[in-house]
Amino acid sequence: MTDIKRGWSEPVEAVLDGLDTRRKGLTHEEVRHRRETHGTNSLPEAPRPSPLVRFARQFNNLLILVLIAAAGITAVLGHWIDTFVILAVVVINAVIGFVQEGRAESALAALRDMLAPNAAVLRDGERQTVPAADLVPGDIVLLDAGDKVPADLRLIETAGMTIEEAILTGESVPVQKGTEPVEPDAALGDRASMAFSGTMVSEGSATGVVTATGGETEIGRISGLVAGVETLTTPLIRQIGEFAKYLTSAILLLSAALLAFTTLVRGMAFDESFMIVVGLFVAAIPEGLPAVLTVTLAIGVQAMANRNAIIRRLPAIETIGSVSVICTDKTGTLTRNEMVVETVVTADGEHRITGDGYAPEGRVMREDAEVEAGPVLAGVGLVSGLCNGAALRTGADHDDEEDGEEAAASEGWHVEGDPMEGALLALAGKLGQPWRDRPSARDTIPFDARYRYMAVLHDTEDGQLILLKGAPEAVLERCDSQMTPEGARPIDRNWWQEQAERVASNGQRVLALARKEHAGDRLSHEDVEDGLTLLGLAGLIDPPRAEAIDAVAECHAAGIRVKMITGDHKGTAAAIGRQIGIENTDAVLTGADIDKFEDEALRDAAEATGVFARTSPEHKLRLVTALQSRGATVAMTGDGVNDAPALKRADAGIAMGQKGSQAAREASDLVLADDNFASIAAAVREGRTVYDNILKVITWTLPTNGGESLTIILAVLLGVALPVTPLQILWINMITAVALGLTLAFEPTEERAMERPPRPAAQKLLAGRLLWRVLFVSVLMVSGIFTIYGWAIGRGLPEEVARTIVVNTLVVMEIFYLFSVRYTHGTAFTWQGIVGTRAVLIGVGITILAQVAFTYLPFANLVFGSRPLGLIEGLAIIGAGVSLLILVEGEKYLAHKWVGASS
Ligand code: ATP
Repeated sequence: MTDIKRGWSEPVEAVLDGLDTRRKGLTHEEVRHRRETHGTNSLPEAPRPSPLVRFARQFNNLLILVLIAAAGITAVLGHWIDTFVILAVVVINAVIGFVQEGRAESALAALRDMLAPNAAVLRDGERQTVPAADLVPGDIVLLDAGDKVPADLRLIETAGMTIEEAILTGESVPVQKGTEPVEPDAALGDRASMAFSGTMVSEGSATGVVTATGGETEIGRISGLVAGVETLTTPLIRQIGEFAKYLTSAILLLSAALLAFTTLVRGMAFDESFMIVVGLFVAAIPEGLPAVLTVTLAIGVQAMANRNAIIRRLPAIETIGSVSVICTDKTGTLTRNEMVVETVVTADGEHRITGDGYAPEGRVMREDAEVEAGPVLAGVGLVSGLCNGAALRTGADHDDEEDGEEAAASEGWHVEGDPMEGALLALAGKLGQPWRDRPSARDTIPFDARYRYMAVLHDTEDGQLILLKGAPEAVLERCDSQMTPEGARPIDRNWWQEQAERVASNGQRVLALARKEHAGDRLSHEDVEDGLTLLGLAGLIDPPRAEAIDAVAECHAAGIRVKMITGDHKGTAAAIGRQIGIENTDAVLTGADIDKFEDEALRDAAEATGVFARTSPEHKLRLVTALQSRGATVAMTGDGVNDAPALKRADAGIAMGQKGSQAAREASDLVLADDNFASIAAAVREGRTVYDNILKVITWTLPTNGGESLTIILAVLLGVALPVTPLQILWINMITAVALGLTLAFEPTEERAMERPPRPAAQKLLAGRLLWRVLFVSVLMVSGIFTIYGWAIGRGLPEEVARTIVVNTLVVMEIFYLFSVRYTHGTAFTWQGIVGTRAVLIGVGITILAQVAFTYLPFANLVFGSRPLGLIEGLAIIGAGVSLLILVEGEKYLAHKWVGASS
């Protein structure tokens, strides 16, 4: 094989020869061989920062820097133990951050792998789908609208192909492509006979031969590297980050004030008062928060991926939980997209077609009796078989060794390509027409959702014919005759219209099939404007997905409205909508209706309607905008190349992982690995869980810090001894932030998460209720601390013992508060609430062990000034925790009762 340097300027055959390949593709043996020489078709990845750099980055955080400064000053003052413990807190935090960030990044990298693009190729003369990374020079690749070109290709066949090459040339208007050679020195943008890796097919279809892969491609030479790693953050997390910065500044100011007050007013030595200030720093700074929030996000991303919803842009994890309207496709999302032609209507009546799945074997029935397929049905079969881009294979055909065994086990037929076309191939087989090893077309008008038909030009026994199939509305108007056993007769459009409506009202998808004689060599939209002969209608069943019915009901219970937006016929859409349980299916709006509405009127109509039929991608965009202007948070699904604007416009754009085009995927925030509506509902559920858990982490962390810092401030202002030393506060924060706070990241979905209405998009996190809760619990903690300290001192216990009681009380109160926080929207007094989750139990277990060590180990007594405690003290400590829980739960109950369940 000689390398092809300037394939664009050479004739197709010369390029094929040069690459030592054929139009029907390489053999598997050749592919394997070439991969050894050329490697995989992927761009080299940017080197990841070294572990050391990633570890160092953990310290690049204002909260942590303040702590490090404090450690420095304590060291200068000679308080070595304090220095050591502060540094221990800092290092433990950095290690947790480092480990969790690493895990989160690998989770994201795994998602990227799941989203790795595929390519349709011809190998051994068979169409198959392979990972784009597996392409080698000489492979024959099939391109369709919406595909991302997987490697540099010399085009060998094109049909109306335009490609958007902005990433290479900066030119955003799609350029026309063809197969004719161009000048050898043509600029990149003028090489019309080439399709370049990374560019996007806007229209049409083509076949091309791979001339370069991986780093050898034009894009590989320009950029060299794939995009870097996405950082794990969302607007909410950034908002919290901002808040943390303000908090740190406020703490610094407060500390300065405290330093001035203690030295100037109370006349303390600098050394002593500085240690109090360090206590305040440490108490007030929520140093564990950033790491815990990152973990919460990472767990959410993972949980969604496990439910087949793959996050492409992290902020989506927040928005998906707050959607109030889901606009969904029908085919494949609400239905199974496993199609079978069940009805064929010809001019002399209706036929029922039997058979199993995609097997090209079955019978033609008329009124329960089997009949022979006459010439009209044969014509229907011919269009079905030849005006078709799909392929049918049995399990036994499957020749990839890896799944050879599995394939042998499942002998069933399956489709390569569009399932609807697969069903038509099966029909062609049943009607005795070619469905395999078909001759290739002279020319093709590929299917385009804007025109709703596809046509091919073929040499047949009846001469050269245009064979066309498409939506009845699009086809009927192009026909002036209909085929009968006696030959072509003038068309009775009304009758056909009625037949189409009748078949559609059973929920079947209807296609019309037609033919026309045509002498020319090429095919254009003008050639099929009129003069066609209608052969018949095919009715395809596509059963609803059982799980979609449940998922729609779940969404309704969660206050989310579900709307179906489909390209299909009004009757079919309404029938399927009813089967699935979509609301307001009586008034179906069509694309044509939408066109008639002014924007304002569309807003009302969009809200009131459940099913939109015969829509095109532009209608989707208008509908999203209309719904959003009424304050809705909209999730929108899409699969086609033209869906990209609507997907981008939606608050959560959701692309289909299987039938979706690469263009749609890249415009989306979320990709459904299984195309299933149920996965959207699952994503909403997980989205709500993540948001709840972020809230829980914050509601737990802040009062803990608030309680500790208020204790110090109050003690200083009152001029009493500190009930807890700075060092002890450090200890508490180190143990609890990690062992307790982190457990909230693992909280499962609350039972009623999908029974409450969506949270308003504009809702501020740190406002109203949360702020009140932080203050309320902080005050409860301070009261608890002073009460128990007073009680201990009152009983004549030494100060060290009293402080040990306080430290344990604080920790126990945090534990009990944790149990309350686990249920934002309900009571914690349930069996589930008491047993907790595995994470909670482990966290609590570790904390208790640590406290026992703190209290009883002589070493700890020495370092922290703690003392062993007796049974009475222990009971008092638990009593404080229980009281806190009762008060906090009481407040929750009353707030729900008075302010409403949504609070
Ligand atoms: P959804 O939007 O729910 O996925 P859809 O698949 O019906 O529905 P489109 O792909 O826009 O939406 O198709 C619109 C119509 O065009 C279909 O109802 C069908 O009549 C026709 N059609 C679809 N695919 C083809 C095809 N490959 N060849 C000819 N006509 C087609």
